[in-house]
Amino acid sequence: MITLQNISKTFETAGGPLPAVSSVSLQIQQGDIYGLIGFSGAGKSTLLRTINLLERPDEGNVIVDGEELTKLSLRELRKKRLSIGMIFQHFNLLHNRNVYDNVSFPLEIAKVPKADRRKRIEHCLDMVGLADKAKAYPAKLSGGQKQRVAIARALASNPKILLCDEPTSSVDPQTTGSILAALKEINRDLGITIVIVTHEMNVVKAICNKVAVMEHGKIVEKFDLREKNIVPKSPIAKYLFNSEI
Ligand code: ATP
Ligand code: MG
Repeated sequence: MITLQNISKTFETAGGPLPAVSSVSLQIQQGDIYGLIGFSGAGKSTLLRTINLLERPDEGNVIVDGEELTKLSLRELRKKRLSIGMIFQHFNLLHNRNVYDNVSFPLEIAKVPKADRRKRIEHCLDMVGLADKAKAYPAKLSGGQKQRVAIARALASNPKILLCDEPTSSVDPQTTGSILAALKEINRDLGITIVIVTHEMNVVKAICNKVAVMEHGKIVEKFDLREKNIVPKSPIAKYLFNSEI
């Protein structure tokens, strides 16, 4: 379970302090596929990045499976981060490494012995349907394939949580479908909790069981998408729910 308590984060900019996230509290249960939706600048990425302390909040607590992350030493935090994978809009693959070696990278950092790495890498590539691309370099892959390599790399360290920042916003709608299918499968088969940032309600409707709508650094409404009658109250939630039908 992920518990965010009263998270605030302000950036110092040339134009003065910019509050990106203001007093946000949120609970994400084990096995959820939780969406964070909102317009550009709403604070979605900043909030997502507090979950593994890539962004350290100015205030508030981040509790992941009972551990308060802001209280951990750097060494403990590094270990904890192995249980929290992350994927990004632009994939962030290493271009001078082939697919196999990209997935291997986090395992090398974690000093996993070579023999153990191989099994793990092959398994992860299998899970995302890219076993036959192990030797290919990122430049030769489609956007969807690159994102699936990124998913395999995130899965390599056996995470319990996968954070996804706009994972489909630089690919076409058909490829979006294949990436979302891969995410849904790893959630179902491995029980991995997924938190997904997006500005597209289609993405939320395709895979999320819950969603929080963000605006100006705050969560304005939350929805359980398994409920039959969803009645958005805030203007932004009304807009997001109704504009994509
Ligand atoms: P988008 O949909 O465009 O990705 P977002 O909802 O993810 O937007 P954030 O990236 O979290 O929004 O940014 C929230 C606010 O904080 C924005 O006004 C942004 O300009 C600002 N911001 C984010 N990161 C930084 C940073 N490192 N330094 C200064 N300001 C930042
Ligand atoms: Mg963002």
